Amino acid sequence: MRCGADGMRIKILGCSGGIGAGLRTTSLMVDEDILVDTGTGIGDLPLAVLRRVRHVFLTHSHLDHTCGLPLLLDTVFDTLKSPIMVHGREETLAAVRKHIFNWVMWPDFAELPNREAPALQYGILEPGARVTLGDRTLEAVAVNHSVPAAGYIIEADGAVFAFSGDTGPNESFWRALNGYAQVNVLVIECAFPNRNAEIAELARHYCPRTLATDLPKLRHTPEIWLTHLKPGAEEEIFAEMQAALPDRRVQRLRGGEVFEL
Ligand SMILES: [Zn+2]
Repeated sequence: MRCGADGMRIKILGCSGGIGAGLRTTSLMVDEDILVDTGTGIGDLPLAVLRRVRHVFLTHSHLDHTCGLPLLLDTVFDTLKSPIMVHGREETLAAVRKHIFNWVMWPDFAELPNREAPALQYGILEPGARVTLGDRTLEAVAVNHSVPAAGYIIEADGAVFAFSGDTGPNESFWRALNGYAQVNVLVIECAFPNRNAEIAELARHYCPRTLATDLPKLRHTPEIWLTHLKPGAEEEIFAEMQAALPDRRVQRLRGGEVFEL
């Protein structure tokens, strides 16, 4: 992994599968202007940093990944010079519009402070499509979750950071990663321990057994970091993962972790 002035900096704001003291749900910050998901982790950002967010990429509509978005917009809308772009699959954006920004759960910031200059603008990003922002490119990749969902592959200057979002066993994520020349960092979910394999299958999440089965599909050997672990089961999931992959170094992701690529 390279460090330096070029490239990108990714900070983990939240990576837990739930809440509780010290735990925050999924959100990653890329440099100072991009958020991937808006879980409770964004609540720790200083106001000045929140005001610099220009783009939000949603993996899917579930609340643990989106609950901070309405609060972010309400916090910064009066200082914005242009709308915050919210990217995601068509179904994800439709769900956010219908179930969050519906004037009942929250005001519709796609029409506020006024329709001519709203605080929020949507950008449909289907799997396989890419958005380039400066020297960073984000590709949405189809994954296998209980609602339409995407992972993101973030590339800057040849360095690649991959984030699965929420997913169970699949082919598409691994195939997309294999299309890149290298993968430096892989943040992959493993929400449940093996004893909850049935729940994991229903909810379309990984457990250590299914993740160990899928990982050989990847032709690269990136750093592997586990995310979205169920509160209270973190040690159990991590131990099961290490036992299932004795030859690979797997690390447990924590809030505050920073990747310089
Ligand atoms: Zn989910």
